[in-house]
Amino acid sequence: MPGEQREISPTLTYDVLVVGAGFAGLYALHRLRGLGCSVRIFEAASDIGGTWFWNRYPGARCDIESMQYSYSFSEEIQQEWNWSEYYASQPEILRYIDFVADKLDLRASIQLNTRVTAAHFNEQTSQWEVSTDDGERYVTRFLVMATGCLSIPLEPSFPGLPEFSGEIYRTSDWPHEGIALQGKHVGLIGTGSSGVQIAPKLAEQARHLTVFQRTPHYSIPAHNRPLDPEYVRGWKENYKERRRAARQTRNSTLNDAGDRSGLEFTWEEREREFARRWEVTGGIGFIYAFPDVTVNDEVNGHASDFVRRRIASTVRDPANAAILTPQGYGIGGKRICVDTNYYETFNRQNVTLVDIRSDPIVQMTPRGIRTKSIEYALDVLVLAIGFDAMTGALTKVEITGRGGRTLRDHWKEGPRTYLGLSIAGFPNLFVITGPGSPSVFANMVTSIEQHVDWIADCISAMRDDERITIEATDEAEAAWFAHVNEVGSRTMLAKAGNSWYVGANVPGKPRVVMPYMGGAATYMEKIEGVARDNYSGFRFTR
Ligand code: FAD
Ligand code: NAP
Repeated sequence: MPGEQREISPTLTYDVLVVGAGFAGLYALHRLRGLGCSVRIFEAASDIGGTWFWNRYPGARCDIESMQYSYSFSEEIQQEWNWSEYYASQPEILRYIDFVADKLDLRASIQLNTRVTAAHFNEQTSQWEVSTDDGERYVTRFLVMATGCLSIPLEPSFPGLPEFSGEIYRTSDWPHEGIALQGKHVGLIGTGSSGVQIAPKLAEQARHLTVFQRTPHYSIPAHNRPLDPEYVRGWKENYKERRRAARQTRNSTLNDAGDRSGLEFTWEEREREFARRWEVTGGIGFIYAFPDVTVNDEVNGHASDFVRRRIASTVRDPANAAILTPQGYGIGGKRICVDTNYYETFNRQNVTLVDIRSDPIVQMTPRGIRTKSIEYALDVLVLAIGFDAMTGALTKVEITGRGGRTLRDHWKEGPRTYLGLSIAGFPNLFVITGPGSPSVFANMVTSIEQHVDWIADCISAMRDDERITIEATDEAEAAWFAHVNEVGSRTMLAKAGNSWYVGANVPGKPRVVMPYMGGAATYMEKIEGVARDNYSGFRFTR
């Protein structure tokens, strides 16, 4: 009944409730259970895996190499598991997550098909009261939001969408049984990382593919390949040292990063290095050719121009090449994409590219999509339009802290956190890879492990000292938020100003650079320093 207060059963009281069963929630469960805490995970999906449960579209794979995009906390797991490709596909990553969950015997503590709808901090009891969509209520001392940075898909708002008589699919919620596309006219909206991965696959399967592009991204060839056993052996024999070295980098990944400014080289030398990274090594590493590719205008201009020239030499139709060429912002201004045959796809006879900046979508019709100038008949519409990133999963839950203040209200002017881990006025609530931490700008699995370890150590220390609550101070949060903004403002992300990293893809969302751009290694030093300094910037109650 609305408003009715239900009795809270003592059997539903936990030390820690974790929301989400992706990489973050699963490791949090393992670590916290290891401390002797009673822990339960609530997961909205019908199985574990998070991102890799939901995003089953053809072509979905990681773009950090598999040997690194994996847990490092267990030597046994990293020795036992074998990746088959340099960049693992979605099904393989999901199998890996299942393997880890079974090995660590995690499933019994995970409640699937359960969405957390609200969490209220009770100031009398210093506990969180958590509600789920099945009408249950639970009590927990600590609440860990492992809800993901890219887990809330954007809702499409195209006029007339309900009238479209064909099938509609989202990359972020792809049917488990797959989709038969043979003989069909398929439309794709969205050309970010998901769009560039799925487009070549759609083109291979469909009778005709029409890609509706709003903003061209910069995309680098992946050069994905089966993993060479010698390469794998090299990693497995040196895993410990390499993982340690990766954590000393800006993005927690060993990726052949150049360490001298691009300005120290001649144009020809830089050009050769970009060409090597485009033709031989491929992937995100392109952007790490020099440490200043994303901050120095001259170096950025050269890298951006290099990609533009490669698009021109790959795409045969000059009109298509022009549409696909990013203009007006430099590489790194939006998330760099990694692809297999993306630009080549536009050389196929069965692919049409529509520039919806010059010929905007007016509405969906029963037959397909009408732009200002023409109607495109479609059987299937695929949406790869992105996510309410970093904050969406948190603000979707009705979270209320001290004094009845909601998180939505607290974040009205931007996602203020202390260290991306904690929020002033919301005691004993931890966010994994939250805004204000490097998270999406680093190897996410490593960022997750660092946060989970920090949180577990903190909870353990609190127990030893008989402390009841931990809470960021307003001053510490304000100073960190200002620092995150200041560092972010120096990057291409701020200059371009139109990516999900700055909230630009969600109407009304405050425009701030959400991830901490000071580098993962620097960030790690900071949070470890805070812990060593008896959790400076936090306030405790006993
Ligand atoms: P998620 O995997 O998103 O899991 C969060 C879970 O929380 C979800 O299962 C969701 O259902 C659940 N949840 C959310 N809200 C609630 C609620 N209220 N109640 C109950 N359950 C809830 N990162 C990289 O570092 N490298 C890559 O190559 C890479 N590739 C990616 C490819 C795709 C297609 C996408 C979308 C993201 C990619 N990422 C990549 C980012 C990726 O999200 C992270 O690497 C990582 O998987 C995040 O794990 P997580 O556990 O933090 O969150
Ligand atoms: P995204 O990067 O936000 O891209 C969304 C795309 O949809 C953009 O091209 C956007 O155009 C377009 N779009 C959104 N709304 C639209 C509208 N109303 N009309 C027309 N076009 C619209 O989302 P994503 O591709 O799902 O990727 C999100 C993030 O997930 C990535 O940045 C990455 O971090 C991660 N990811 C990684 C991989 C990988 O390779 N490992 C794969 C997929 C996802 P505009 O640019 O004009 O807004």
